[in-house]
Amino acid sequence: MSNPIQQQLMQTPEVLNRWRESYKGNDFPVEFFYSKDFGRRLRSSRFIESGEMVLFDKALSTVINCHEAMNNCDYCLNSISFTSSMFQPHCNKCQQVWYCCDTCQKEAASQHEIECSLFKCFGSCDLSDSSNTNKTVLKLLLRIVSHQIAEKCKGEKDCCSYPRFEDMSILLSNREHFSKEDLNQISYFWRKADEIMKSDSKSQYDWNKWWPKEKEFTEMACQIYCNCIGFRYNPCGRGLWIASSFLNHSCNPNLMLLDSGGSQIKYVATDNIKPGTDLTISYVNITSYQERRSKLSRCYYFDCSCDLCSQEAAHPTTTETKTAPMSS
Ligand SMILES: [Zn+2]
Ligand SMILES: [Zn+2]
Ligand SMILES: [Zn+2]
Repeated sequence: MSNPIQQQLMQTPEVLNRWRESYKGNDFPVEFFYSKDFGRRLRSSRFIESGEMVLFDKALSTVINCHEAMNNCDYCLNSISFTSSMFQPHCNKCQQVWYCCDTCQKEAASQHEIECSLFKCFGSCDLSDSSNTNKTVLKLLLRIVSHQIAEKCKGEKDCCSYPRFEDMSILLSNREHFSKEDLNQISYFWRKADEIMKSDSKSQYDWNKWWPKEKEFTEMACQIYCNCIGFRYNPCGRGLWIASSFLNHSCNPNLMLLDSGGSQIKYVATDNIKPGTDLTISYVNITSYQERRSKLSRCYYFDCSCDLCSQEAAHPTTTETKTAPMSS
């Protein structure tokens, strides 16, 4: 007999039904599956041929990497080719977003207005010892929080849409695994954002009512750390995709992420897949056995037990190198 929590876990989360609905017409070969050992995940519901487009997903939100903000348009994500940063359209209040053209800046104006004051955090916070990824995750968090506040203030809500901000609640945060230093940094960042937000009296939004408490903010930060995906083939940013976060990891995955270049991502099958097979992606881009496993354990808090890891554990190679071979 399974307990109520387990029964709840076994049910397809409502958000995945909305996700499938949003792709009506596409014969999605994907179903939700739960098992006690491996948790919630997605698997194939029919035979999938190698090369077939298996999964589409729409981002809850995306951001350009903090350290590459000048290289890509914050609105259309296209790369920017400019000669003088003086004249390149950008927001000179927060200095965090750049645009490829005036049209994109105009289009982005209303959505950026809300987050702009929070983005000033990056100027007032001392995040010098944190990684580029950490800063980008915090930027994504502030964007999600500010859009969520705007939505709540306007009272706009489409109950059939996918994805929705509250869908984040189904994501795992793994908060208990975060180091004290990481949690302290999130707290510090929350306090800075809290100060800025409270001093922003001109805002038309009721920040005080909707601004998350520190605990909620930390939980969201951890959820984003564990679930966000980098744009791989145009490595300019990170985003949060809800349905895709149910894809488990394998070091020898059967799905591959195709270049998104935007908020829509696609996964293609790298092999023929039998019905009822776990659909997997690789969370890391490292070939070395030791390094790969240490990164998975450090960033995703699990010891990989995929087929490739089992094989490599049984037959360790003597040529284990420190760095992953680079493709030419
Ligand atoms: Zn643009
Ligand atoms: Zn700004
Ligand atoms: Zn593995």
